[in-house]
Amino acid sequence: MNKSNELFEKAVKVIPGGVNSPVRAFGSVNMNPIFIRNAKGSYIYDVDGKKYIDYISSWGPMIFGHCDEELNKVAINALEKGVSYGVPSDVEVEMAEIITQAYKGCEMVRMVNSGTEATMSAIRVARGYTGKDKIIKFEGCYHGHSDCLLVKSGSGTLTFNVQTSPGVPVDTVKHTLVCEYNNIDSVKETIEKNKGEIACIIIEPVPGNMGVVAPNIEFMRELRKITEDNNIVLIYDEVITGFRLSYGGAAELFDIVPDMVCFGKIIGGGLPVGAYGGKSEIMSMVSPVGKVYQAGTLSGNPLAMSMGIAVLNRLKNNQKLYIELENKAKKLEEGFKSNIELSGVKAVVSRYKSMLSLFFTDREVNGYSDVVTSDTEKYAKYFQSMLKSEILLPPAQYEVMFMNATLSDKDIEYTIKANLKAFMELSK
Ligand code: PLP
Repeated sequence: MNKSNELFEKAVKVIPGGVNSPVRAFGSVNMNPIFIRNAKGSYIYDVDGKKYIDYISSWGPMIFGHCDEELNKVAINALEKGVSYGVPSDVEVEMAEIITQAYKGCEMVRMVNSGTEATMSAIRVARGYTGKDKIIKFEGCYHGHSDCLLVKSGSGTLTFNVQTSPGVPVDTVKHTLVCEYNNIDSVKETIEKNKGEIACIIIEPVPGNMGVVAPNIEFMRELRKITEDNNIVLIYDEVITGFRLSYGGAAELFDIVPDMVCFGKIIGGGLPVGAYGGKSEIMSMVSPVGKVYQAGTLSGNPLAMSMGIAVLNRLKNNQKLYIELENKAKKLEEGFKSNIELSGVKAVVSRYKSMLSLFFTDREVNGYSDVVTSDTEKYAKYFQSMLKSEILLPPAQYEVMFMNATLSDKDIEYTIKANLKAFMELSK
């Protein structure tokens, strides 16, 4: 038995499913997980000594690749100053200044420890601010696992077909209304039926949790207008997209500014960090200025702040990097598309900037109803074939391949070759 299987055998006895987050169990790709020993640059190494090109990138945060020497030095310096204080520190102010300067309309920000906490807190604040209870989310968008957002969501819940979860009281989710992504009529109807009762609309401005779905700018514009007209707080969940699509996120890219925004992943440089922010008027509702309570023992942790600051400073004014990341994804997209033609396999590539997904369907992918037509069993076979070629893809269909700065042309060319081999096997 290899070491990964040995570890998995031990893990399932002491950790539910052997993992600390469901998709990591590799269940939807019909195999046991590989266990990782270390990672460097674009490569990740398992406990059996196998090396893989890594397209998971810790689900987004590792935008500069693994184990970056400059960032490691920052972490070591921070460690030497103490890991956590529980009273304010200079790096928290620096981080808040960086985020508020980077993101249009984000005048104040509060640091938390995960994307889940960020969205959960943003919704509490939006409810407190408007005095209304109902919220709108979109089918296939995932905003973490807080109770009220665990409805028809994406990522692992879509992979495992969890509409909502046992343990979430029906009374909690009765205020969560679900609309169709990219369909403004479904939003208009829901607002009309619940006139004056909706506190906020939360959306991934570029969905990444049903795989990548390219945004429709007209839809986003109408969403902004309709929320303004109805006194509804518009929240962008930029946990994936923040500082990935561009330094100023979707607000800058679309020139459509939300009232509130949530971050995670990249802003922690691989450490557990999230943040939510928005207009001062709204954020002033947060305790201790306002009455909406939200707190955290490790929030604004100096080690995590130092790493995050170093990452964001390297991204600032680094248009070259954003272009390079997009070019890597583009190259893969073109290679995969040409392989689809060569092999005759039924698949489509969906890409936005440096986010990329491959769906085994022949439908154009514009939203949830399209992505669910993908043949997930085929994805499982494809995943396994790519893994044999030493390429680590997300172990689930409804996820994103994330590019990082250390991914070389050679890595990409090799990935395209392996992709053709996998397609040829699938089309046999
Ligand atoms: N929002 C989005 C868009 C996400 O993709 C995720 C996680 O993948 C979350 C929120 C939750 O973040 P976390 O896993 O850090 O709690």
